[in-house]
Amino acid sequence: MSVTQVINPSTEETVAEVKRASAADAHLAIERSQQAFKSWRQMAPGKRAELLRAFGAKVREANEELARLEVKNSGHTIANARWEANNVADVITYYAGAVERMTGSQIPVPGGVDITFLEPVGVVGVIVPWNFPMPIAGWGFAPALAAGATVVLKPAEVTPLTALRIAELALEAGIPENVFQVVTGSGSVVGEALVEDPLVRKIVFTGSTEVGIGIQQKAAKRIKRVTLELGGKSANIVFADSDITKAAASAPYSVFDNAGQDCCARSRILVEESAYDEFMAKFEVAVTNLRVEDPSLDSSEMGPLITGAHRRSVESYVDESLVLFRGSIPDGRGFWYPPTVIGGVDSSHILFREEVFGPVVTVSTFKDETEAIEMANDSEYGLSGSIWTSNLGKGLRVARGVESGNLSVNSHSSVRYWTPFGGYKMSGLGRELGPDAPNAFCEVKNVFINTDI
Ligand code: NAD
Repeated sequence: MSVTQVINPSTEETVAEVKRASAADAHLAIERSQQAFKSWRQMAPGKRAELLRAFGAKVREANEELARLEVKNSGHTIANARWEANNVADVITYYAGAVERMTGSQIPVPGGVDITFLEPVGVVGVIVPWNFPMPIAGWGFAPALAAGATVVLKPAEVTPLTALRIAELALEAGIPENVFQVVTGSGSVVGEALVEDPLVRKIVFTGSTEVGIGIQQKAAKRIKRVTLELGGKSANIVFADSDITKAAASAPYSVFDNAGQDCCARSRILVEESAYDEFMAKFEVAVTNLRVEDPSLDSSEMGPLITGAHRRSVESYVDESLVLFRGSIPDGRGFWYPPTVIGGVDSSHILFREEVFGPVVTVSTFKDETEAIEMANDSEYGLSGSIWTSNLGKGLRVARGVESGNLSVNSHSSVRYWTPFGGYKMSGLGRELGPDAPNAFCEVKNVFINTDI
């Protein structure tokens, strides 16, 4: 059997070996999923909701176990990993509630009765990246299962462990066999099998824009439904009228969280000229105080990068002569890279344009509100962003001006599962989360009954 060695990024030790499935394995899982769909879609809503609530409860009970597994597999800090496991329990429970609220409608028409039905699409392929293996899986599978669709989930090759455990918890909770399956393996084999197989009616893909483009092209051949959550290069806009102390204290968490391996990372800081000196002095203190250490410690605020290859990719972006200051990293083994702050780049520079996906941030200045919006929008991406100002009117104006799916004023948070999440421009297509997410796993069927016959 072909296997993938799963490596702990903070120790470089092998923690597990996981099957690298073949295309035939993937097709078998898809066929089983199609069989399971027939009864899952017919299940009474109350029963489906009950099973999903039990599943959510199992995931919540297993919080510490899942979090510890993620620390070993992905190098996430234990504090973040606990939040991530909790987020999965939250989204399953939230969408369990949606099952009982999903209804069609009756529309007045002349000569008869017109009824619309929400019908689940069928088998859904959920393809997940390595940076947030648990939440991103949950954002795909939970609303799909709630809608009555069945799911084949493919985790990233390097981070399969928590997904495998969550699938076991689904069975323990009573979710019927094959309603929710995990198939581990490579993108080019298992991922492509999901995208190509005609039985898979919808793909939810989260990952790089490059792979997302290929998936959309292949899906187009069958008009397969797709939701794409892709890359980002978001701006953190700091106005001089903001609470600079709070803005500077928050900035490391807005970009170095998860070692910068975050699609929502605010990797371009834009500061109003008159506030630059004060902001940078406070930001430097915050960066140097950031606790980059063994992610299994409760005190750890940043762990390592995911692999040695990824660290080489991050290193290749950084021109040492542009580094303004850096945080520290621990000695010894592990794929560590320090939080790194870059200055002196204009908007044509590669670090201003490309997603590094590591703990690297550029700082630039702007003159006024108009220039801040122009600079924020000078990117092919549009996923998230922050605006710091004490003038809420200005905060809202700028938020409306920035072409991004998720903006926060005086905050670095991006995700609240009750609200829609997704990207503008090359950052994606469609929305996840929020109350409408299950509808994205349904077709709308309209039936007219002639009453004049
Ligand atoms: P990736 O695109 O390399 O891989 C993502 C997933 O797709 C993996 O499971 C991979 O095995 C699979 N895959 C690769 N090639 C495939 C193919 N040809 N067909 C089908 N599946 C294939 O991305 P990554 O390196 O794992 O993750 C980092 C990227 O994900 C970054 O660009 C980041 O911004 C993005 N991301 C976006 C969001 C969002 O919500 N917008 C969230 C997290 C990460």
